[in-house]
Amino acid sequence: MAEQTSSDIDVEVLVIGAGVVGIYALQRALEAGFSARTLEAGDGVGGVWYWNRYPSARFDSESYTYGYIHSKELFEKWRWEEEFATQPEIERYLNFVVDHFDLRGHIRTGQKVVSALWNEADTAWTVTTEKGETIRARWVISATGGLSVPNYPDLNGLEDFKGQAYHTGAWPHTPVDFTGKRVAIIGNGPSGAQILPAIVDLVETVDLYQRTPTWTTPLNNGAITDERNAWLRDNFEEIAAKLGSAANPTGFLHEPAGKFSTADSFEERQAFYEKIWNSPGFAKLTSNYYDMTTNREVNLEFCEFLANKVRSIVKDPVTAERLIPKDHLFGAKRPPFVTNYYESFNNPAASLIALSETPIVRVDESGIETTGGHREYDIIVFATGFDFGTGALTRMGIKGINGLDLSTDWEEGPTDFGGFSAHQLPNFFFPGGPHGAGGGNYPRYSQDQIDWITGTLVHAREHGYERFEPTAEQQESWMTMIETLAPKSIFSAEHSHYYGANVEGKVRKFLLNPGGRAKLHEILDEMTATGDYNGALSTVRESVSAS
Ligand code: NAP
Repeated sequence: MAEQTSSDIDVEVLVIGAGVVGIYALQRALEAGFSARTLEAGDGVGGVWYWNRYPSARFDSESYTYGYIHSKELFEKWRWEEEFATQPEIERYLNFVVDHFDLRGHIRTGQKVVSALWNEADTAWTVTTEKGETIRARWVISATGGLSVPNYPDLNGLEDFKGQAYHTGAWPHTPVDFTGKRVAIIGNGPSGAQILPAIVDLVETVDLYQRTPTWTTPLNNGAITDERNAWLRDNFEEIAAKLGSAANPTGFLHEPAGKFSTADSFEERQAFYEKIWNSPGFAKLTSNYYDMTTNREVNLEFCEFLANKVRSIVKDPVTAERLIPKDHLFGAKRPPFVTNYYESFNNPAASLIALSETPIVRVDESGIETTGGHREYDIIVFATGFDFGTGALTRMGIKGINGLDLSTDWEEGPTDFGGFSAHQLPNFFFPGGPHGAGGGNYPRYSQDQIDWITGTLVHAREHGYERFEPTAEQQESWMTMIETLAPKSIFSAEHSHYYGANVEGKVRKFLLNPGGRAKLHEILDEMTATGDYNGALSTVRESVSAS
């Protein structure tokens, strides 16, 4: 499609980021007839699935529930190989989507955005990349991801290490050869837990540095058989409706348990936990007893069941005890779902270093020194997570009305509306940003947001509006909802990156939408019930005369 532009702007819609969310945003904008372009920092599309190419990086949401569900044709044309696809398959899929919708010509890769400045007089953003390219756009959709800025530990002497060192979120394109190597993995979240089993049979030694244990449970993956694939195709409408429903808070297909723990006897509960242990991925949360995350006693009982699983799998009893969390309940941190994690510790090549007992003193040129001694490494893997939610947005040089600088404005935590826009940032959307997702399947939340944003741009065009800015009252009301419901969340402030707790010096604020999809839709529906979205939409003339 040829780009149609007005004289004062280069493009109507500028999307930043070509990950899962950005690809969808670009496709919807073009489909709605806007001129649109994407700037992507990486040299290829895929976003986190471009950068996180470490061994065995894979979905832990079912492939067909994480992928796009807005196009039957796309759903039917792509055949997933596994229930939980690996990174290479996901990257192939996202490239396939880009070509299927003919988007590639609108995407400029290798263009990292370093500044975005709002110009009130022109009702336009000026966006500049590291390479000096400048684009003026009426609307900006920053799909820069919640987990895109790697978090490195602050360790003495890190820069002295002479071996290879990689963060899982910035993995090199040239495959890393682990054969016969001495490897340290720092971190045991979903990324660290996925790498260990993938390399344990290759390495000379692998030491997993664990700050605090997590409740890791089996992924229970499998190949998608022809029969399963036929079922998926035959049931597309039903699947898409279920995943896309605002009444589905998790964004998964998993069936809820349909009961509270009190409905079962002790023996029945143990049998139920066994079934949950054998269920796929997130079903351990979504199909568990209704009161699993609200009733401390039942959660403790499930934790004891899980602890006994660890004890039965890991042969060395000391290692087993070290792997069992003592400081948080199941679900209080985002749990990893991984195949053969605990089994890996039975391989003589693997050791667990519990940092609670022997903290790291320093890194030096040949390895890592803890209070327990010095160990030499060829490779150190940082599986230490990301600056969640706000990381990318506060580093992008975003300046709104009167030079409002997002990096300082959000120092005490993000203030926004709907988890995708903010007062004083007109015409700027950040789907997938802080307060964007609930505790479920991220792409389903961001699809809701993109659909709403696209609908808003179309509505604005049809009714002569050129400016969208949530009012101070709308933002305040949204933030009050976040603050009121947040303490009821299962994610605890002391441990979870959902509170920014994993980044040193970061303010602890809840970064998800605790009201879930239902609350988001309720608030957005209230807003769109009026032609001007209760004052959030304006024409340029109105907004200039009002200022
Ligand atoms: P993460 O869950 O934040 O885990 C980081 C790990 O590094 C934790 O074990 C943490 O310990 C440890 N750590 C952090 N700083 C440290 C330090 N200074 N010294 C020692 N250890 C330190 O990060 P992640 O594993 O990359 O996962 C992040 C998110 O990415 C996940 O929640 C998930 O949403 C997504 N993800 C998804 C998949 C998938 O879909 N399959 C795979 C990977 C990641 P503490 O626990 O003590 O803080």
